[in-house]
Amino acid sequence: MLEFDRRHLWHPYASMTEPLPVYAVDSASGCRLRLADGRELVDGMSSWWCAIHGYNHPRLNAAVSEQLGRMAHVMFGGLTHAPAVELARRLLAIVPGPLEHVFLCDSGSVSVEVAIKMALQYWSAAGKSRKTRLLTIRGGYHGDTFGAMAVCDPVNGMHERFTGVLPAHFFAERPRSRFGEGLGSGDIDDFETLIGRHHEEIAAVILEPVVQGAGGMWFYSADYLAAVAQLCRRHDVLLIADEIATGFGRTGRLFACEHAQVEPDILCLGKALTGGYLSMAATLATARVARGICANGGLLMHGPTFMGNPLAAAVACASIDELLESPWRVRIGAIEAGLRAGLGRYATHPAVTEVRVLGAIGVVETRSAVPVARLQEIFVRAGAWIRPFGNLVYLMPPYVIAADELEVLIRAVGKGLDALS
Ligand SMILES: *Cc1c(COP(=O)(O)O)cnc(C)c1O
Repeated sequence: MLEFDRRHLWHPYASMTEPLPVYAVDSASGCRLRLADGRELVDGMSSWWCAIHGYNHPRLNAAVSEQLGRMAHVMFGGLTHAPAVELARRLLAIVPGPLEHVFLCDSGSVSVEVAIKMALQYWSAAGKSRKTRLLTIRGGYHGDTFGAMAVCDPVNGMHERFTGVLPAHFFAERPRSRFGEGLGSGDIDDFETLIGRHHEEIAAVILEPVVQGAGGMWFYSADYLAAVAQLCRRHDVLLIADEIATGFGRTGRLFACEHAQVEPDILCLGKALTGGYLSMAATLATARVARGICANGGLLMHGPTFMGNPLAAAVACASIDELLESPWRVRIGAIEAGLRAGLGRYATHPAVTEVRVLGAIGVVETRSAVPVARLQEIFVRAGAWIRPFGNLVYLMPPYVIAADELEVLIRAVGKGLDALS
């Protein structure tokens, strides 16, 4: 199986001719992945921010089975169904601000495309056809499709090789003020200059509130986010919050916008939306945005084949119910304390420049880029599933992780760091 995989299957951001090793998983349950060779690994990744309740969860399994017995999928054009309606009802009850309208699509990147489309259509319908560009902050990640790539960090955003073919947007300096601190003097200046100078061309600001994920695992000041929201209002620019990674509790609040009491005009959700079961994302909009787009018979020009997929929507409903009925704040607080104490031990390690923790996210920044394959072998030998990138070794466990499982992850990180120095 591994041999066929190696020859024929592309993996994320990978070479087909010189692929890195992959590990075959046979099953997963709770916070553990069972490899085909029988080894068990504690999961430190939540399968890229998704599996917040762990794997093979009885309630989520039941939601999928129950829905499967009715229908796996029907088109959303001209039809609707309870799972989609119930999901929208749940989302609107918990998201920050006066968001009222939900577009259910198939992946995070697509939800970003839809958000951008909404912003462009909004201004076009308002007769402001010059407002076609976006403003964002450096260090961001918004997905791998072309519209999303164009707002990822232009240098470290994994997409430099496409620079010439992407639409040119505006990039403000990455905020230096850290989470938990106020807005540092001069920190918003670059952003303020850009929006002041170009607001007549800018349709929307898009950013990841408080936590920049795949663009560098950077936690910035909530006051910076609040200042951005104010400047958007002042200059009549829409605010798109990409909470695909931060949504559903990861940072200690249900949504990261809440750290700054910011209410976006458009919100993107994904990843943990289905508890890691199926691919689904959502783009939510305020009444102002929706009315603008739809004035004079306007239509939002998007409609993916698997829009509103009933299986995904049903499991998303179950995942949200499970989350809200669980002591998630307490759990994330305990993970945060565990990560601070555990990873904090490595702050003075010779291979490490910084350890930072926010909610259920723990980041160890190393002096140089890590050898991914070699470190992963060490992690696996230590019983942990951790996938570093660049000079970042990070942990993002399921919320249900036990203290002793978290310790397995933290010890594994230590072994990996020792191998670097
Ligand atoms: C993962 C991610 C995306 C893209 O989501 P996909 O489902 O991988 O397309 C977009 N924005 C942020 C902040 C993400 O973390």
